[in-house]
Amino acid sequence: MKTAPFTATDAAELYSIPAWSGGYFRVSDAGKIEVTPSPGLRATLSEMVAELVQRGESLPVILRFPQVLTGRVKQLNEAFQAATLEYGYSGAYQGVFPIKVNQRRAVVEGIAAAGYDYAHGLEAGSKAELALCLAQRMHPDALLCCNGFKDDGFIKLALWGRTLGKNVVITLEKYSELDRVLKQATALGVKPAIGVRFKLHARGSGQWEESGGDQAKFGLNAYELLRVVERLRELDMLDSLVMLHTHIGSQITDIRRIKVAVREATQTYAGLVAQGAPLKYLNVGGGLGVDYDGSKTTFYASMNYTLKEYAADVVYTVQEVCKARQVPEPTIVSESGRALTAHHSVLVVPVVDVAGPTRDLQDIPESKGEPHQVVKDLEEIFENISGRNYREMYNDAVGDKQTLHNLFDLGYVTLEDRARGEALFNAILRKIQKLISGEKYVPDELEDLQKVLADKFICNFSLFQSLPDNWAIQALFPITPLDRLNEQPTRQGTLVDITCDSDGKIDKFIDLRDVKATLPLHEPNGDPYYLGVFLAGAYQDVLGSAHNLFGKVNEAHVTVRPGGRYHIDLFVRGQKARRMIESMGYEEPMLRDSIENQTDRAIEAGILTTDQERELLEDYDEELLGYTYLEYEEA
Ligand SMILES: *Cc1c(COP(=O)(O)O)cnc(C)c1O
Repeated sequence: MKTAPFTATDAAELYSIPAWSGGYFRVSDAGKIEVTPSPGLRATLSEMVAELVQRGESLPVILRFPQVLTGRVKQLNEAFQAATLEYGYSGAYQGVFPIKVNQRRAVVEGIAAAGYDYAHGLEAGSKAELALCLAQRMHPDALLCCNGFKDDGFIKLALWGRTLGKNVVITLEKYSELDRVLKQATALGVKPAIGVRFKLHARGSGQWEESGGDQAKFGLNAYELLRVVERLRELDMLDSLVMLHTHIGSQITDIRRIKVAVREATQTYAGLVAQGAPLKYLNVGGGLGVDYDGSKTTFYASMNYTLKEYAADVVYTVQEVCKARQVPEPTIVSESGRALTAHHSVLVVPVVDVAGPTRDLQDIPESKGEPHQVVKDLEEIFENISGRNYREMYNDAVGDKQTLHNLFDLGYVTLEDRARGEALFNAILRKIQKLISGEKYVPDELEDLQKVLADKFICNFSLFQSLPDNWAIQALFPITPLDRLNEQPTRQGTLVDITCDSDGKIDKFIDLRDVKATLPLHEPNGDPYYLGVFLAGAYQDVLGSAHNLFGKVNEAHVTVRPGGRYHIDLFVRGQKARRMIESMGYEEPMLRDSIENQTDRAIEAGILTTDQERELLEDYDEELLGYTYLEYEEA
């Protein structure tokens, strides 16, 4: 039976692309990943990378697609507009973007611009973030929410923001912040707009469950909330209380948790209105998820609802409670960050090498003289292994290898025998790999085997700089080759980065049912092989760390044009080695002095010529000014 050729459709299914792409990525018939910011617009990622390489730029690189960012802002706002229209909700929707999710200039400015007509605002959680937000052009009604613990400086800056005509709201994270705000407001003569963060007893679901509930880090309890109302009433400032704020954590996987929290929040809002506080905004916080694995489940890397359902359920729930309590329908605010930014950027990493047990030297060395019995046992397994017995034989081989090593340690097995035994073991693995490569579904008990057999695709990037959440909280990101997707991948691989840290690896991959230990990849064919890491636009850009002094990576901002064309609008160079070194307290002249002192001494000692010295200093300077990642000359 001849099997049908592997097509782009098979690749789309294999990597679940339609399930997680949100419609923004697809595989072309030619087997290449395309970005599709809106219907009819498409451009090929590997072409963009090739152009950058041609221009002499180095990889890894982040490809940013401002059109996708704009698209998400529109989608979110239109989903809420549609929901308010459908239910006849009398209040409005006004989102704010919590910039901690990604403070990169292109992202904040992109969202502020795309959100202008929707009066979509920003949220700052620190003084630095507020300083950044205040400088943005925003719709006069757009909110600028100030969350996080605050000192007098933070509060003053927020109050000054109101005098600049910005709709700044100071969210009280704890009761004692009220006095601070009132004191500064009086001193400055600026009337504050105040929000209160309420500790819901409802909790999220997924990895950030602890952000909600009674033990939450932020927020006031019910009694404190009422005290705030009383204080403001005494001061005849009750109209300064404009917002009730809640947040039960990020990446809420289960829509029921959202509904329960929104219900509690709206009841609280109604309670405050009943106290005479004329609140205008009900802020339901962040938590709108991203379906990283495309499984549409409550698994932590997924979500069991769509953006449309989220908007509909929030609006419906708020309205239902407001009707029952006969209170005005407030302007609904959400602080969606992850959902706005995740899709817009793709990290492109080049595979620089492949290693693995089935790739070591493949010939089997002879033993000198009569080999040890355990080596003979491995020979026998190697001769007799077949499709019928490979599971059993595999277990025997693992046992024999263990014995081989134990006997070696005790001096009973020679180095030659050990070499032959290990080579036989690897040959057995290669045979098994051939035997199971045709099987679509590998039984669970052989999953370990798959891990052992997996190739290590060495990728030119740092996990700690570019995908910190994969390391820190086991976040999953969809990963695919950018090219060759009309070709059956014949290898199973894990990814390792170029840091010296053994944690710098990816060995968990998305799957519709489960988490996979390996990723299907192609046998290298001599051409550059690039992997795309998708949905990496939320949190990763800003949480990354400088492990091994690998710095921020290069970025290209790309606009897609009709006819499959695209334009690289902006190229932002990543951090140079010098900057990384200086960030640790060194100064460039100091480094150079030290090197020159050493070359002087080397010349005196006759180890170095003056010509060599010049070359050495040139090379040193070049590396200081260079990219921190591997720069192989393209063949
Ligand atoms: C981090 C944060 C958000 C963003 O949440 P997402 O799940 O990324 O949308 C919103 N509100 C507050 C208070 C936050 O701390």
